[in-house]
Amino acid sequence: MEPNDQEKRLRAALETPRPAKDINYWVNCVGEGWRPLVRGLDANLRDIDSNYVIEQVKEKFGGLRFYVNSPPEDEDSFADFYKLIQDAEELSFRICETCGTAGKGCKPNKYSIRTLCPLCYRRFATKHASEDDD
Ligand SMILES: [Zn+2]
Repeated sequence: MEPNDQEKRLRAALETPRPAKDINYWVNCVGEGWRPLVRGLDANLRDIDSNYVIEQVKEKFGGLRFYVNSPPEDEDSFADFYKLIQDAEELSFRICETCGTAGKGCKPNKYSIRTLCPLCYRRFATKHASEDDD
């Protein structure tokens, strides 16, 4: 029996690989202060392997997390690749995720560990201290 048009379209949609999200999507997953770092890291990784695919970019416990799939197969490229990611993740612990100036790990409230500069720390703590404050 011939599948109807709707089935054909559904099957085609399921079989089409989803296009990888580009860097403009991923930079928006972290604070503004880290976006240059994420863009720079992506450019360096692309220089090693132009086909690499980002799996996820996020902040966790005050640090950048940058996950990839399909890393380069060549052993040297693989090592360079992960060194760049590791260095960027370490660097993120010293950059304010909000404004990009020098920052450090802090607890602006009970529930968060963030990397912030003193000014952004005060703003964050004030903003979340009371619902009534602007
Ligand atoms: Zn800041």
